[in-house]
Amino acid sequence: MEKIPVSSTGKLLRVNLSSKEISQESIPFHVYRDYLGGRGAGAYYLLKELAKGVDPLSEDNKLVFFTGPVIGTLAPGSNKVSVTFKSPLTNTYSMSLCGGFWGPELKFAGYDALIIEGKSEKPVYLWIDNGEVSLKAAEHLWGQLIPKASDEVKKELGNDNTIRVACIGPAGEKLNKMACITADRHREFGRGGAGAVMGSKNLKAIAVRGTGEIQMSQKGKMASLVKTLYQEFKGHPKANARTRYGTVEMLEGINNLGFWSTRNFSQGYFEGGEKLVGPKMRDDIVVSDASCYACPIGCGKNARVYYKGSRVHLEGPEFETVGLLGANCGVDDWESILKATEICDYYGMDTMAVGATISFAMECFEKGIIGLKDTDNIELKFGNGDALVSLAEKIANRDGFGDLLAEGVKIASEKLNAQDYAMHSKGLPLATYDPRGCKGMALTYATSPKGAHHMISPTMGAEIPGDRFAEEGKAGLVKDTQIQMALVDSLGFCSTMRFVLSVDKQQQLLELGSGLEISKEDMFKIGERILNIERLFNIREGFNRKDDTLPNRFLKEVIKEGLSAGHSINLEKMLDEYYQVMGWDRNGIPEESKLAELNISQFGNK
Ligand code: SF4
Repeated sequence: MEKIPVSSTGKLLRVNLSSKEISQESIPFHVYRDYLGGRGAGAYYLLKELAKGVDPLSEDNKLVFFTGPVIGTLAPGSNKVSVTFKSPLTNTYSMSLCGGFWGPELKFAGYDALIIEGKSEKPVYLWIDNGEVSLKAAEHLWGQLIPKASDEVKKELGNDNTIRVACIGPAGEKLNKMACITADRHREFGRGGAGAVMGSKNLKAIAVRGTGEIQMSQKGKMASLVKTLYQEFKGHPKANARTRYGTVEMLEGINNLGFWSTRNFSQGYFEGGEKLVGPKMRDDIVVSDASCYACPIGCGKNARVYYKGSRVHLEGPEFETVGLLGANCGVDDWESILKATEICDYYGMDTMAVGATISFAMECFEKGIIGLKDTDNIELKFGNGDALVSLAEKIANRDGFGDLLAEGVKIASEKLNAQDYAMHSKGLPLATYDPRGCKGMALTYATSPKGAHHMISPTMGAEIPGDRFAEEGKAGLVKDTQIQMALVDSLGFCSTMRFVLSVDKQQQLLELGSGLEISKEDMFKIGERILNIERLFNIREGFNRKDDTLPNRFLKEVIKEGLSAGHSINLEKMLDEYYQVMGWDRNGIPEESKLAELNISQFGNK
């Protein structure tokens, strides 16, 4: 048997839903050496196995779940598993990460990776019970909301609390392009429409139980390093703020600096934001804290409100949800925001994409592009919390006007001839930071391989203490941050761990866990290799410089008020600089010399 990292299982489970064939493969050592695992290995398998031009909702698309070499070890935040697929929302490469316990459980069950391909004739769910793998009928679960379906699957399998269930809701079944896959009832593979891909395969859920142990190369040293790191987390002010207020702790600063997406990015300051800041959230709606596997922070916040007299209780909300269902729709009451979040959570939809799509529709309504007859009589004005809730439900059910919006903001805007109000890049809506107030984020959104995703290179932490409006020189920062994130995502760490885990520390944890000795220079090479294969996937699908762009609003209009006033973005200059530092040509295509340097010439398609 080929050598594998000590903390890995070396095994990939492949399930073909068309033929019902279930098989097991060894993962070649070079996959770990060149891509580590997680996001990197997922991108490698997708590029290698998916033919050019596959329809994302056809049986030819695949869902590639991959754990990283640190997942399931003692390392802090070692729980993020990725799913890689061609996105129905963007038609690009896509990858989504999920925390919680499902990823570690897959590894405890004996598998580093799971590839789902084909399409079942009838609804099924997959049951992975250590070495035993089977497909089970799921027609009776079809149409069920996520909490009920998850509980039902567990009940059928013996009501064992150690079983971890990842499942889709009615949104995924109805091929809503914003549908997500939800693990452990509250943790999502959120962005890009993985839930629609799973729905198109007639796969309702993947239940996992594992009793295996993850081996570690140097367990004693690992334990002592982890102990030291936990102390560092305890003394870290940013980590402490995250523990107390979750990701919502970021909100106040961004609003004060004037780049919080407000009313579909038409403003950078939300006057209602003070009702939604971390301390208010903690005092008004949080009832307890929640955490993922091996996490020293615990950013999850269980919250409770009453919407029109009925109780809403959920894990959240996190910053992006408050941003896009709240400020971006002009809504400032927790009741409406949480009710809309609950609908997204129960039906299985990405709260960010849904919020951005509703805010787009609200702007169209305010501008008279659509009226009551188009919106099924909903007064879609900014700030109307009841309209937010009603429309979220319509989108979830593909009901009336919601059917158009379920296609995502790009297609909806094309059909309404209102492209100027659709705030997306490559079809993926922007996160809640207005890129005019932090220029590295502009380049991040524009060049992200999966559309406008903020976590591909969250440069803000480095930009805010310096000149956040500078454009020159940001390309290098974006490249470095992209590389660092590719490593975090591929190793299997939660991104929040970066407060304490430098690349050096990650490298140490990798070595003590897996036995893989990789120099810092080689780690950066791996990160760069991952970015390049993701790029090559998109180029093969016809994407290039013309697609590395942002909505006109950011390029032609300035923010009018607050501390980011007067700024728009000169993207073309930033792109030139970025392509140069990446070793790509003027059209954004990797040069052959770059591919040779990264040892991936076989994927070149010039
Ligand atoms: S910081 Fe939050 S998302 Fe990250 S591992 Fe901890 S609880 Fe999970």
